[in-house]
Amino acid sequence: MSKIVSVFNQKGGVGKTTTVINLCAALGKLNKKILLIDVDPQGNSTSGLGVNKKDLKYSIYDVFINGVPMADIIVDTSAQGVSLAPANVELAGAEIEMIKIEERELILKKTILQFNNTYDFMFIDCPPSLGLLSINALTASNSVIIPIQCEYYALEGVSQLVDTIKLVKKSLNPELEIQGVILSMFDGRTNLSIQVVDEVKKYFRGKVYSTVIPRNVRLAEAPSYGISVLDYDLKSKGAEAYQELAEEFLSWIEEEF
Ligand code: ADP
Ligand code: MG
Repeated sequence: MSKIVSVFNQKGGVGKTTTVINLCAALGKLNKKILLIDVDPQGNSTSGLGVNKKDLKYSIYDVFINGVPMADIIVDTSAQGVSLAPANVELAGAEIEMIKIEERELILKKTILQFNNTYDFMFIDCPPSLGLLSINALTASNSVIIPIQCEYYALEGVSQLVDTIKLVKKSLNPELEIQGVILSMFDGRTNLSIQVVDEVKKYFRGKVYSTVIPRNVRLAEAPSYGISVLDYDLKSKGAEAYQELAEEFLSWIEEEF
């Protein structure tokens, strides 16, 4: 069975998309079969893996609104082993259009059930909001990865985020768990980063990956070439960190069984 993981934090710019792209790419290189589902109207995961948002015949919008089967929208990416359900700006209006659909929280869950044996992992890149798209993602998932940026106010909004996860767990998806928390954009030269790591570890006791993602310019550059940081500069600090994270992610999952 596939494990379905949402990468979620309602704050923008915390490293969700960077994490999804590069964690998927690292797992793909470890011979895992991955489906990345882009549920953010910005479509940064889509373009970041070399898929042209303007050339799409169908996108995740058509799955949500027009009943197009997920299988019909999936495309290959530049990353080995990683397939993609792409998104583009069309998705921006979807939350309003979804209001007229019955069981609108369950659309994604219903449509990805058929892939349970096709992929080892499905990762969902969530938009920076607590709306219906994120609710769909959380309802369809077994677990959540939360990236947190090592910055001032890192924990601001986190209680709201955790409340949202609890609410979905209670009302829509009883099995939903926090898979792990990833500290991103760490700068070891600043006391602030080190302080944030301590605070987050206290808050999410035992749930924080020991792999910390450093601030690394290669991670910011790679998406403009439509490739993961592993294909852009395998020896960079960013590539090393995401490879290490992939190993740690897999070892935590093995411990669950
Ligand atoms: P989100 O998806 O949460 O909005 P992104 O992953 O798009 O966040 O990251 C926001 C910006 O920060 C992007 O421009 C991205 O390239 C950059 N970025 C993310 N992680 C890192 C990092 N570890 N080092 C340097 N830049 C990063
Ligand atoms: Mg993003």
